[in-house]
Amino acid sequence: TQHLLARARAHEGLGAYLALDEAVSLAQARAADARLAQGERAPLLGVPLAHKDVLVTKDFPTTAGSKMLQGYRSPFDATVVARLAAAGAVTLGKLNCDEFAMGSGNDNSAYGPARNPWDTTRVPGGSSGGSAVAVAARLVPAATGTDTGGSIRQPASFTGITGIKPTYGRCSRYGLIAYASSLDQAGPMARSARDCALLLSVMAGPDPDRDSTSLDRPAEDYTRGLDDPLPGATPQRPLEGLRIGLPREFFGAGCADDVLAPIRAALAECERLGAVLVDIALPRTELAIPAYYIIAPAEASSNLSRFDGVKFGHRAQDYTDLLDMYKKSRSEGFGPEVQRRILIGTYVLSHGYYDAYYLKAQQIRRLIAQDFQAAFQHCDVIAGPVAPTVAWAIGEKTADPVAAYLADIYTLPASLAGLPGMSVPVGFGRGGMPVGLQLIGNYFQEARLLGVAHHYQ
Ligand code: GLN
Repeated sequence: TQHLLARARAHEGLGAYLALDEAVSLAQARAADARLAQGERAPLLGVPLAHKDVLVTKDFPTTAGSKMLQGYRSPFDATVVARLAAAGAVTLGKLNCDEFAMGSGNDNSAYGPARNPWDTTRVPGGSSGGSAVAVAARLVPAATGTDTGGSIRQPASFTGITGIKPTYGRCSRYGLIAYASSLDQAGPMARSARDCALLLSVMAGPDPDRDSTSLDRPAEDYTRGLDDPLPGATPQRPLEGLRIGLPREFFGAGCADDVLAPIRAALAECERLGAVLVDIALPRTELAIPAYYIIAPAEASSNLSRFDGVKFGHRAQDYTDLLDMYKKSRSEGFGPEVQRRILIGTYVLSHGYYDAYYLKAQQIRRLIAQDFQAAFQHCDVIAGPVAPTVAWAIGEKTADPVAAYLADIYTLPASLAGLPGMSVPVGFGRGGMPVGLQLIGNYFQEARLLGVAHHYQ
């Protein structure tokens, strides 16, 4: 813990952390030492971790990357935070992210960008950018992230680390500051599939009293059997018989050649390990973008209404009456991207437009989920790129938010369907920047995704 606190200070320029508190971290580390001395063997005893700043923590401030929550301290820990702490983890601090997890580059944070350690002029991806930077720069062995439309997978891909978004509902959302509740999901970001498995085993599982959308399935030990070949396969060809589906829509002209090259090489390696590659179709892939950018802002406009300067958050200094206070507090507290999404969300939910936008988007969402089920008739996992390019320059997409939305094309479909997805580092593209392979599984197939990634790694 001492070593990593020193590393965090030495690399402040990366913008990974929003909060550190040496005294708190060292006290937690001493408590872990004491548990160890008493002979306790918890799975993460003494392992330092850090949390994305949209997960509330009682021992550290939580801002969600927003001025709105500057100085806020939660009276409780998010369930995933509490579970990691109970398993012995030590919290090093809170990690930078796009404001309320809205973004793809961590450049929408009110506290400044996080920087990609492979090239500090480039974004680390987002919204879990600080988590990706901290793991990639070896400031911490593993971190939590959250993924609504790609925010674990895309920054993992951009920084060359491993991250998994579980099936929607696998991890409790209690204490995850809501962006789009029907999509939000927490997950681990780490150096390897094995480390992700270790964390996810602790984080996952039902939380019926606190999150009614958490799914009623017992927690699994994702590390068990990780080294075993798939049933019927041999140690030399551990993926024997695995059918990997390649959606033709993910391999078209929209994806840069420097991204496709390492992905094709990784798929060839999977073939060498025994897998069979099959062509599949996800015909509504393009529609995932308009559907997501209606549904997510719609939910956000509702979720963010609680930040009114009364119950939570920043309150303006000078105002005339209640409405003026709301208006000024929200205008000052929310950054431009958050305001844009509140406007879009309010618009698509308004009487007269609801059927044309929101209802239509929900119908498309259902069709996208059905397309995946049709595809899984022909394959066991789906593979493709995480993002159409490598990490871009900081500021490059700021003036054109739609350009950033379009770059989410390969992560949004699995999000809308609620399917588990992960990013596995497979090589490098233009400028020597990392490229991740996305693996998508059917519901509750986290163990299979982690297994495939582990055999590849
Ligand atoms: N880039 C997407 C968005 O801005 C996804 C973000 C996320 O998964 N939190 O909404």
